Amino acid sequence: MPNFYIANVANVPTDKQTAVTGALNILFTRIAAGQMNVSWITSATGVNITDTDLLVYVVSSYSYSLIKHFPTNPTIDPTSNGLTAFQTNPKKAASEVYLDSCLNDTDLLAKLIFHESMHNKLLMGNEMHDKSGGLAQETISASTQLSSADIQRWKSNWNKKVNQWPEGFGFIPAPGDPLAGIL
Ligand SMILES: [Zn+2]
Repeated sequence: MPNFYIANVANVPTDKQTAVTGALNILFTRIAAGQMNVSWITSATGVNITDTDLLVYVVSSYSYSLIKHFPTNPTIDPTSNGLTAFQTNPKKAASEVYLDSCLNDTDLLAKLIFHESMHNKLLMGNEMHDKSGGLAQETISASTQLSSADIQRWKSNWNKKVNQWPEGFGFIPAPGDPLAGIL
């Protein structure tokens, strides 16, 4: 069973982690009958993240982007809710969500995490947004529902191998670091 790791870089409290995990489990149950193991981690130490797993960082805001350090030097859009950067040879992807874009709405946070993980698994940029509606749309809310096209795309990519980017943990600034939050 693949693992879906959520990197808690933004101190999301335990009760909200549980709510987000529950919301993601509901989505993945509709895709692959619960065959996804969702868990939260705070470091990659001792965690074996394989190329069929997914890793999405939750950071406080775009100012705290980790993906800006991805080898392709992606541009961060301050108006976005999250970002996924990838390279195709070898296949490698890195995803993050900005916690301040969903405030305390755990349903929306779960769906933003899901949306970025979909970019990650499909290795698709903005071209993903227009094709299946549902949670692949560019703008989603807490009430946006999974579409049948979303489900089909997940199913056809379920076993695709995409290396993740646990190196992002190495770019988390230490508490009190004056460089924290400066792009
Ligand atoms: Zn998107």
